Amino acid sequence: METEKKSKNFMSWYFDFNLLYRILIGMVLGAVLGLVFREKIYWIAPFGTLFVRLLKMIVMPIIISTLICGAASISPATVGKIGTRVVLIYLVTSAFAVCIGLLSGFIFQPQADLSGYALSTVAGKDVASMSVVDTFLNIVPTNVFQAVNDAQVLPVIFFSILFGLGVSYLMVSEDENLKKSGKTILNFFTGVSEVMTKMVTGIMQYAPIGVLSLIAVVFAKQGPKVAGSLGVVAAAAFSGYLLQIILVYIGMVKIFGLKPGKFWHEARNPFVTGLGTRSSYGTLPVTMKAADNLGVSKDIYSFSLPLGATINMDGTAIYQGVCATFIALTATGVGLTAGQMGTIVITATLISIGTAGIPGAGAIMLLMVLDSIGLQVEAGTAVAGAYAMILGIDAILDMGRTALNVTGDLASTTCVAKSLHEIDESKWD
Ligand code: ASP
Repeated sequence: METEKKSKNFMSWYFDFNLLYRILIGMVLGAVLGLVFREKIYWIAPFGTLFVRLLKMIVMPIIISTLICGAASISPATVGKIGTRVVLIYLVTSAFAVCIGLLSGFIFQPQADLSGYALSTVAGKDVASMSVVDTFLNIVPTNVFQAVNDAQVLPVIFFSILFGLGVSYLMVSEDENLKKSGKTILNFFTGVSEVMTKMVTGIMQYAPIGVLSLIAVVFAKQGPKVAGSLGVVAAAAFSGYLLQIILVYIGMVKIFGLKPGKFWHEARNPFVTGLGTRSSYGTLPVTMKAADNLGVSKDIYSFSLPLGATINMDGTAIYQGVCATFIALTATGVGLTAGQMGTIVITATLISIGTAGIPGAGAIMLLMVLDSIGLQVEAGTAVAGAYAMILGIDAILDMGRTALNVTGDLASTTCVAKSLHEIDESKWD
C-alpha cells in the first residue's frame, strides 16, 4: 500500500501536467534530439512504434462498435441525410484544398535544378476513370472478416452500417424475441464502444513519449534535406496547410455560428497526434474524443470520422497541388497550364477518396495525379528525379498533411452536426 502511494506520487508530476503541453514538449524535444543526434538517436524508434501499435490496436474495434451503435440507434433515412451532407462537405473542402495547394505552388514556385536529367514533354490527359470505379466497387467487401483482418476501413464501415441498420430493424420488430435480440446486440456494442473510449484515454497518456520518439526519428533521417529547393516545397506545403485551417476550417466553423477558439482548443489533440503518427486511422480514437468534447452527437461522429479518415484528405490534396507544381516546374521548366490545374483539382479530389489513412499513402497517390497530367515517373527522367526528391522529405510533408487531414474531418463533422442540430452547444460555453 505504502509503495503504491509512493509510486503514484512519483509519477504525478507527469500525469498532472496538461496532456497537450506534454505532447507539444515531446514534439519539440523530438525534433531537437533528431537534428542534434542524427542516427545515434535511432534506438528511440521502438517507443514510437509502440504508440502507433497501441492506437492501431483499437482502431478496428472502435470503428465497428461505434458505427454499429450509431447506425442501430438512428433510422435509415437519417443515415442517408447525414451521409449526403458529410460526403458533400468532404468533397467541397478537398476541392478547396487542392486549389489552395495550387495557389501556394504558384506563389512559391518550388523548383530544383536537375540538369543531368532529360526534360519531359507534357501532354494533356483525361482523368483515369478506371481507378475511380474500382475505388467505389472496393467499398463492398467480399469477405468482411478478411476486410477486418487487412484493416480495410471503407469496407468495414460499409458492413458495420448495414449491420447496425439490421439491428435497428430488430429493435422495432413486433416479435418480442427479435426485439430482445436487437437490444442485446446493441447493449453489447455500446459496452465495447465505452471500453474503447476508456482505452483511448489511457493510451493518450503515453502520447508525449510516442510523439517524441516518432518525430526524433523523422528529423534524424530527413532534417538537413529540408534545405534549398526542398525547403521551398516544404514551405509551400505548410503555408497551404495553414491557409486551409484559417480560411476553410475556421471560416466554416464561424459560418455555422460556432466559436473557432473552442474548436481549435479541442482540435489541437488530434492535430498533434496526426503530426506524430502520420496516420489518420491511427489518430481516429483521438479525433473521436475531440468530437465528443465538442458535443457532437455520437450518431454523427461514429459515422463521419471513420469515413473522413478514409475519404477526406485535405492535407493530402494540398500536398498534391504543391508537389505537382514542383515536379512540373523541375521536369519541364514551365509551370502548370490552366487545363492541367483543372485536371489536378478533379483527380486529386477524387483520389483523396482512395487514399488510405496510413503513413506515406499520399506519395503513392501523387503518381496517379502526375499521370493524369501526362507526367509519368519513368526511370532516368527528370520527373522521376523530382519525384524521388519529394520522397526524400515525404515524412515531414506527411506529418503536416495528416495533421490537416484529421483537423478537416473534425471541422466538417462539427459543422454537419451543427446543421442537423446534433450538437450539445452547452459544451461550447
Ligand atoms: N498519412 C496520411 C493520412 O493518414 C495519408 C497521406 O499519406 O497523405 O492521413
